Amino acid sequence: MSDNPRIDTYDTADDDVERRPHLGILFRCCGVYTRAYRRPDQSFYVVRCPKCLRTTRVQVGSGGTNQRIFVAD
Ligand SMILES: [Zn+2]
Repeated sequence: MSDNPRIDTYDTADDDVERRPHLGILFRCCGVYTRAYRRPDQSFYVVRCPKCLRTTRVQVGSGGTNQRIFVAD
């Protein structure tokens, strides 16, 4: 029996990219799907259509969307 219980916290730094909050965006203007990543200090995603370069913002959190896929038109 162990008298030294410990909680394992493993470092997932390698996983960082996958763990970053992201959202799938479908740009209806050009019919392209892309992924948006959010900075931890931002409450919105800024995404740009890879084809026509229009920029859109997606608000998340309270008052924002909880969808994982967002359609921008
Ligand atoms: Zn477009």
